[in-house]
Amino acid sequence: KPLTENDAIEDHLITVCVRKRPLNKREITKKEVDVITIPSKNQLIVHEPKNKVDLTKYLENQLFRFDYAFDATCSNEMVYRYTAQPLIKTIFEGGFATCFAYGQTGSGKTHTMGGDFNGKSQDCHKGIYAMAAADVFKLANSSKYHHLNLVVSSSFFEIYSGKVFDLLNNKAKLRILEDGKQQVQVVGLTEKVVCSTDEVLKLIQKGNQARTSGQTFANSNSSRSHAVFQIYLRANNNMQKVHGKFSLIDLAGNERGADTSSANRQTRMEGAEINKSLLALKECIRALGRKGAHLPFRVSKLTQVLRDSFVGSNSRTCMIAMVSPGVNSCEHTLNTLRYADRVKEL
Ligand code: ADP
Ligand code: MG
Repeated sequence: KPLTENDAIEDHLITVCVRKRPLNKREITKKEVDVITIPSKNQLIVHEPKNKVDLTKYLENQLFRFDYAFDATCSNEMVYRYTAQPLIKTIFEGGFATCFAYGQTGSGKTHTMGGDFNGKSQDCHKGIYAMAAADVFKLANSSKYHHLNLVVSSSFFEIYSGKVFDLLNNKAKLRILEDGKQQVQVVGLTEKVVCSTDEVLKLIQKGNQARTSGQTFANSNSSRSHAVFQIYLRANNNMQKVHGKFSLIDLAGNERGADTSSANRQTRMEGAEINKSLLALKECIRALGRKGAHLPFRVSKLTQVLRDSFVGSNSRTCMIAMVSPGVNSCEHTLNTLRYADRVKEL
């Protein structure tokens, strides 16, 4: 019944799926109850604790359906196989692909996208960025696409409080420029030509370190920033033109969007910005399936920099909603699932 490697890979313009992480040490120590079950390859049930008027307790089961549901035993490889991997061909065909990790802080977004590094880049748990890059190299050298003579390059930046910072250049602050034809450019963004997965892993590690440097746990900016890792394909004889582009995004913690009543003004403003960008993102993804819809690109920096990925005639996207299994995360989990549900709802 649960998803296996033998299940069919479906072909969608928009894929929406959910991933449940295992209970962590802290949750196990606190004997936190796991309130999520995944009964089949595309269903998830939240068992929400509730009280009746007479205060007797009961569980309310809420069922959600997605394209795929990944249980806590699923590996990053399995998640990749059904999410980003099917989008790789799109960029070779001259299109744009995007893959988003959405969810509350601590739900596994960075683990899934960036992977976990234990010091050395050789000794790491690969995430979707690295696996996508590995497949891009493989395809670029395959008999099918070798004649295109494509060059692979990468950039890595973060959007924090409506500002763009280059993660491959000491977090230099970058400007966004929009020309008369609504072409959006991040001015001065580092774009490194890459030839091997090892090189890409080093870039990811460097970017991840820049992203989390100078932070304390209590004031973690990385949970309030969107990280955007991009893989470009350019023709060797015309490097100005982008042949195809894959954007992989580790979104800000969605619970931060609710910080709008914080006593701290800065936190409130950041919360409002995150909320705005996540709402605009949802509208932009939904519009992919229906041509002619009005798209609120300018509303946020996130949607502005991803504009070309949503307007193209050959654009595909995937959203992975991450959920923490513990009962204490229940409310955020339900918010995450409702958002993901709306992304695909007709
Ligand atoms: P987020 O980026 O959403 O805030 P992280 O990816 O940093 O969350 O995950 C929080 C912690 O949980 C990390 O220590 C990470 O290694 C661990 N973790 C997340 N997902 C998994 C998983 N599927 N399996 C094992 N550990 C995980
Ligand atoms: Mg993270």
